[in-house]
Amino acid sequence: MRTKIVAGNWKMNKNLDEAMELAVELQEHQSDFPSDVQVIIAPPAIYLANLEMIDEPCYQLSAQNCSHHDYGAFTGEISPAQLRHMGIKYCILGHSERRQYFHETDELIASKVDACLRNEISPIFCCGEMLEERKANTHFVTVLHQLEKALFHLDKKDMSKVIVAYEPVWAIGTGVTASSNEAQEMHAFIRETLRNHFGVEVAEQVKILYGGSVNAGNSAELFSNPDVDGGLVGGASLKARDFISIIKSAAMPSQIED
Ligand code: PEP
Repeated sequence: MRTKIVAGNWKMNKNLDEAMELAVELQEHQSDFPSDVQVIIAPPAIYLANLEMIDEPCYQLSAQNCSHHDYGAFTGEISPAQLRHMGIKYCILGHSERRQYFHETDELIASKVDACLRNEISPIFCCGEMLEERKANTHFVTVLHQLEKALFHLDKKDMSKVIVAYEPVWAIGTGVTASSNEAQEMHAFIRETLRNHFGVEVAEQVKILYGGSVNAGNSAELFSNPDVDGGLVGGASLKARDFISIIKSAAMPSQIED
């Protein structure tokens, strides 16, 4: 049985005081968190060190991006080796905003996946189709292509360290969420694709998160699907109360109190 993950992508939001306030608020409510839900936060990189200083944090930290190089003359880049040295265990890669605004290609994302894995950082690999692709019914082809290009070169051991996040681009930050059926259908497709390429053991192990306008009102239904192993949450992770509700909604049914 795969346990659930709820990851918050803060993107380029909050000043340092606000970031610390949100982290402290999460800390104060950590006794409400279901014990079987893993919480990950991806703050702006400049706050990673501050958030790491919090005593016994209720979350693990993720970067939102990193370079495909470990060190060198790459002004402004974030090194996966430096992230690792700080104890960061996760890094979001292939987010649609990076694909769209920073022109990241599948090839570059594949090399970032490699850079993370050689530095013992688990990629949270994002994939998902544009609205036109969904409308043209080519969404499975798009996602298959993204998986093939960025992940199919990995061996089974490395693949089992990857977290996949299915994030339909038309649902990110729009308030329009994939229906529960649409999410489950794509997650089952992704798992089947992983099964065909990497075998059943890896496919059953890899966690597949849903992202795209997840909120406190829709998370429970989305997360109740057998192939949805939690969520990657943008906007709703910026408010403690909403994010905590989403975390609570990811509990296994046996953990939910009346
Ligand atoms: C995201 O950017 O990863 C995301 C899912 O954003 P939102 O929840 O705001 O749609």
